[in-house]
Amino acid sequence: MIDKHGRKINYMRISLTERCNLRCRYCMPEDGIVKKSHDDMLTEDEVINAVKAASSLGITKIRYTGGEPLIKKNIVNICERTSEIDGIEEICITTNGIMLPTLAKPLREAGVSRLNLSLDSLNEEKYSYITRTGKLSGFMDGFHAALDAGFEKIKINAVLIGGFNDDEIESLAELTMKYPVDMRFIEMMPMYDSGDFDENAFISYKKVLEVLPQLSPVEKDGGVAKLYRLPGALGNIGLISPISAHFCFDCNRIRLTADGKVKPCLHSDDEYSLKGLDLDGMTEVLKEAIWHKPSWHGELDAKHRSKAGRNMNQIGG
Ligand code: SAM
Ligand code: SF4
Repeated sequence: MIDKHGRKINYMRISLTERCNLRCRYCMPEDGIVKKSHDDMLTEDEVINAVKAASSLGITKIRYTGGEPLIKKNIVNICERTSEIDGIEEICITTNGIMLPTLAKPLREAGVSRLNLSLDSLNEEKYSYITRTGKLSGFMDGFHAALDAGFEKIKINAVLIGGFNDDEIESLAELTMKYPVDMRFIEMMPMYDSGDFDENAFISYKKVLEVLPQLSPVEKDGGVAKLYRLPGALGNIGLISPISAHFCFDCNRIRLTADGKVKPCLHSDDEYSLKGLDLDGMTEVLKEAIWHKPSWHGELDAKHRSKAGRNMNQIGG
């Protein structure tokens, strides 16, 4: 479907849960989340109906995210059912990878086409610091399980954090020399009340270009990242710049939260509820939400925090 600003919307990101087995400092408060009642969250059947409704409006790509989507007990079933819906061409998952040793193969068999894995540091202590509870070896086991299960075009996402991992840009980029993966650097977004980072922590994607002058530009793949490649690499380097060079005019996505709210823009507090609706009702509400998608996310920088009204784990990054 085309929104009122003429953009073709064909991609829906669905958060399956606000809960997570990690506590990344820029994403979630240390003590986790205020648990919502089970009755307020979308059921598996409602998620599937929302995908059916979205597909009838021209959505072809679904990404399951969270919170951590792989802690959902029914994740494999949800993916399997999603793959059977007419019009859905691609099912992707964004995950911290910790549960992949047991889930990579079943997810692949359930029709998941691609994985994005989050990794902000290759240093054990720093990884544990940023995730508050995680172990780098846990990520690595998950990453290798994904490769062994036959996932191709894996993308690894690192949030750029000044004073934390700007000294690791080179080593993270080196992953593309060793493995057939894309390494993507994402500018940190100032969300609701998460994040104990000051202004100096916000660094621009341009820092990556300064540190890696040997990068050559590569044609875009239809996503939001500016793409480059190291000489002789097996994968690309992607730079995602929601703060310093926003890409709202090209935005093709909407989001659905675990409690059933359609968010046509990540940084707006506009929300349209699907909870409790049947397929026709969901289709009507989705139409309305897509049509009214804001033209851009408004001012966003260290001084202007996101107006989303939620932390990232409550929206689905
Ligand atoms: N738990 C999964 C994971 O970490 O991959 C999926 C959900 S997580 C919210 C999705 C992505 O959002 C992760 O790559 C994470 O690094 C990113 N993210 C979270 N908070 C962010 C922020 N404030 N700015 C930029 N990216 C953020
Ligand atoms: Fe959990 Fe992902 Fe947020 Fe980290 S970024 S706390 S892994 S939801």
